[in-house]
Amino acid sequence: MITALRGMKDLLENDGKLYKFIIQTCESVVKNYGYKFCETPKLEETTLFKRSVGQSSDIVGKEMYQFIDKSGNDVCLRPEGTAGVVRAFIESKFDRVGGIRKYFYYGSMFRYERPQRGRLREFHQFGVECFGEASVYEDASAILMLNEILNNLGIKTTLKINSLGDGECMPLYKDKLVKFININKENLCQDCLRRLETNPIRILDCKNDSCQNILKNAPLITDNLNQICQDEFNKLQEILRANGVEFEIDPKLVRGLDYYCKSAFEFVSAEIGSQSAVAGGGRYDKLCEYLGGKPTAAVGWAMGIERIMEILKQKEPQNSRQGIYICALNPNLIDEIYKIAQKLRKHHITEISYEAKSPNKHLNIADKRGFEIFLCLGDDEFSQNQIWYKNLNDKSEKRISIDDLWSKI
Ligand code: ATP
Ligand code: MG
Repeated sequence: MITALRGMKDLLENDGKLYKFIIQTCESVVKNYGYKFCETPKLEETTLFKRSVGQSSDIVGKEMYQFIDKSGNDVCLRPEGTAGVVRAFIESKFDRVGGIRKYFYYGSMFRYERPQRGRLREFHQFGVECFGEASVYEDASAILMLNEILNNLGIKTTLKINSLGDGECMPLYKDKLVKFININKENLCQDCLRRLETNPIRILDCKNDSCQNILKNAPLITDNLNQICQDEFNKLQEILRANGVEFEIDPKLVRGLDYYCKSAFEFVSAEIGSQSAVAGGGRYDKLCEYLGGKPTAAVGWAMGIERIMEILKQKEPQNSRQGIYICALNPNLIDEIYKIAQKLRKHHITEISYEAKSPNKHLNIADKRGFEIFLCLGDDEFSQNQIWYKNLNDKSEKRISIDDLWSKI
């Protein structure tokens, strides 16, 4: 038997339904904030991710699905969505036109990680990117929007925020941090020893206990912000409070990706074990320039759909029934139920059985397949322009006139 690859999952039945539900919930919120749908290729030149996500990141360092295609191009399945959207933005010359553009996207991302609960090799994200707006109010809007989506989905989360400073205060902070860590570096893990050379601030979110021990008295970025960054960080907190959004300041939140500056944020859930981040994002004013475009302020986030699905599954009421099953007891009534079903399908999920079976056999099928309403036409009913109706939730049943059907369902 051919099976799906390790770390890759099918979205069938309830998973497919949940996936759609989550996307629709996200879409309906972000549209009201002016975001427009976009789609970019899942396969891009490897250089794009090396440059944008950063050589030193885990994603580029170990997790990329990279290969040489038949023409010898070095290509890579996208590990995240931002790089492709920024590439498309620059390629369309929107960076030169200026103005504000807001996009949302969703779909597969690929990371060669060790598969475990909440960690797949092909997973799905819903994400947004806003270009051309430098105001911290937009950072707040990005967070409020994500908060609204999680609320609409009924998911309880904790919001963590941080400021990563800008091109002026971040390098100064990095130097301080490196000096501090160098004194204690014999207890650093292998990954962090590498990070110390390539991207030291990533050491802050290392999951390793011995590294976290070293960091206990480390200097914090939040104590080392310049005035502009400090004022903006204060403003962000003020807007969140004014909008009733609770948050924690986490000076060690640095995000997995290397191109962030100023606001960084993450929503975590206590309901899904150790892979607890459900969404993360922040400001990335430098990325457009790194990729060869004109300097363009940008802020965005991405949400992990599978982790949201896992939380929703725990909450879901079992066996929520849906839809109508319509059947006939006699083959010459199939045309009749077909006519009725086509009318019902204008407003309701309707399944037709084309086989004439005993009423009990039909009822069994409808019950097992989780339908809510059972409609059955026999000769007797048909002669009186009626149909047998059963509600499979409360088990009530009656004969009703076919003419009344549309108003009764
Ligand atoms: P983590 O620390 O859990 O590895 P990350 O920082 O790598 O997360 P991001 O790159 O910010 O994650 O991606 C945004 C969201 O995508 C995460 O918050 C998470 O919900 C989801 N996500 C990331 N990697 C995976 C994966 N391998 N499988 C499933 N979901 C994932
Ligand atoms: Mg990761």
